[in-house]
Amino acid sequence: MTGSGQSTVADALEQALREVYEAVRGVQGGKNASYIPALAEVNPELFGIAVVTRDGATHEIGDTRHEFAIESISKVFSMALAIEEAGPETVRSKIGANPTGLPFNSVIAVELHGGKPLSPLVNAGAMSTVSLLGAASAAERWQKLLACYGRFAGRPLALMDEVYRSEAASNFHNRGIAWLLYSYGTMYCEPMEACDVYTRQCSLAVTAHDLAVMGATLASGGVNPLTGERVISAAHVPHVLAEMTMEGLYDASGDWAFTTGLPGKSGVGGGLLAVAPGRMAIAAFAPPLDAAGNSVRAVRAVSQFANRLGLNVFSV
Ligand code: GLN
Repeated sequence: MTGSGQSTVADALEQALREVYEAVRGVQGGKNASYIPALAEVNPELFGIAVVTRDGATHEIGDTRHEFAIESISKVFSMALAIEEAGPETVRSKIGANPTGLPFNSVIAVELHGGKPLSPLVNAGAMSTVSLLGAASAAERWQKLLACYGRFAGRPLALMDEVYRSEAASNFHNRGIAWLLYSYGTMYCEPMEACDVYTRQCSLAVTAHDLAVMGATLASGGVNPLTGERVISAAHVPHVLAEMTMEGLYDASGDWAFTTGLPGKSGVGGGLLAVAPGRMAIAAFAPPLDAAGNSVRAVRAVSQFANRLGLNVFSV
């Protein structure tokens, strides 16, 4: 592509970003997550959209450098590490690769499938994923994950202490799920260790820009476009993206595929990440959530942006 061709693409992207931002910023509706007390206190007006292309170009608008809790979006990167370490078939047979069709913290989903979590992208599967990593101690397990997240983001990520303390003091439901998995033999380390390390990974601070870099690492086949470091093998990326497509927005994943057609992942901190394979990643942040736990404005923004740029992976 010539220099002017590249700038035309960049201009179109910038324009789409501005128009979508203006169209979506006033959208009302939804509520901050309140079951984790610290998340209820985040300013609900915050809103930003960041795009990082596979060659590392960044486009952003709004509150894209504001740090928030990554929450469930972390599940993507822990899954990627488990696939690297244990191999895709082990992850699929021990945890699963199917949508649950139920809320992200469903106990019923575990019961219905004989203790198999079904997906690394729901709470049960994410704790089971953490437990699958080879580690001699909780500290080693946590350091391994933290290092992996840093490679995806291209900078070290840090814990939001207040979010961690708030979630650790109120995560009784997740502790119940961890013990339930243990009773079925699908928890591969001490259950409270997995639950605590999982709670930590959810409490990592990211910006929309960080998420877009992490997603662009997947969009580029596993190489971080900012640092040039290979973070996961190219052969494993399709497994990660497939799982994001099947379960990334929980029980609304079908709606998301239908309207947008991109592998995506949401978190109750208000973040949303979508990956256009071979092209770019789009991340948006806005705290108020819909009933499924997906950010109202982030879902709209990423969907509109993807449709404007023709990014749907299913379109011919
Ligand atoms: N840490 C949150 C939990 O375990 C993550 C949920 C989410 O973002 N959907 O409930």
